[in-house]
Amino acid sequence: KGLVKRFGAFAAVNGVDLVVKKGEFHSIIGPNGAGKTTLFNCLSGLLPLTGGQIFFRGEDISRLPANRAVSKGIARSFQITSIFKELSVFENIRISVQAVTRRKFDLLARTERLWEINEETRSILHEVGLSDKATMLASNLSHGDQRLLEIGIALATRPQLLLLDEPLAGLSAGESARITEFIRQLGKDVTILLIEHKIDSVLALSEKVTVMHRGQVIAQGSPSEIEKNPSV
Ligand code: ADP
Ligand code: MG
Repeated sequence: KGLVKRFGAFAAVNGVDLVVKKGEFHSIIGPNGAGKTTLFNCLSGLLPLTGGQIFFRGEDISRLPANRAVSKGIARSFQITSIFKELSVFENIRISVQAVTRRKFDLLARTERLWEINEETRSILHEVGLSDKATMLASNLSHGDQRLLEIGIALATRPQLLLLDEPLAGLSAGESARITEFIRQLGKDVTILLIEHKIDSVLALSEKVTVMHRGQVIAQGSPSEIEKNPSV
């Protein structure tokens, strides 16, 4: 509600109102510098708001830091790939699984905890289709597989809301189609808020599209409504 993020006198996000319903596939589009990534940084607790409020499942989370937003069920992928390139695919996922299971399994024996963590890691690898590549160094994955790994790292926190920031950027046409299809399937299980420039994918995936420009929401609607909107 009325989200604001100022950098000095400049408002990168300026009075943005946005409702994402449970189960919805919702996308945000807009030119570079529109404030899309800054909005994600606010929603995920990475940047403090200078105005407005964020509610998640009825709870005011406006002042929660990123690690607490994750524990509430919000996870994100980044515009710039943020995997550990020198670690294996398995290790990349395991670290993320471990970050959220540490608390949950505090009372269990250490070996039992490790077993649970490894099981959950394998399960996530399966979900993102990287089981066969578990022992590979992340740096040796194709761009498309690196993107899947990054989404896997976010999924390892078992989010209810997944924020994806330009997951198709820099991918070839073939890889882009493959990741688009993966994201479509993922959207059946988890609520997704997607930032993406590839408009064909956005229109094909989304139930709702929000258009931002200069920090503000200038249009909102179904893909067909957005396509017809002359100001967009
Ligand atoms: P988008 O993701 O839509 O391309 P951003 O949210 O990255 O846009 O940026 C929105 C505006 O805020 C841009 O003008 C950008 O230069 C500015 N901006 C982003 N982060 C910062 C920051 N940390 N400090 C100052 N200005 C920033
Ligand atoms: Mg951005």
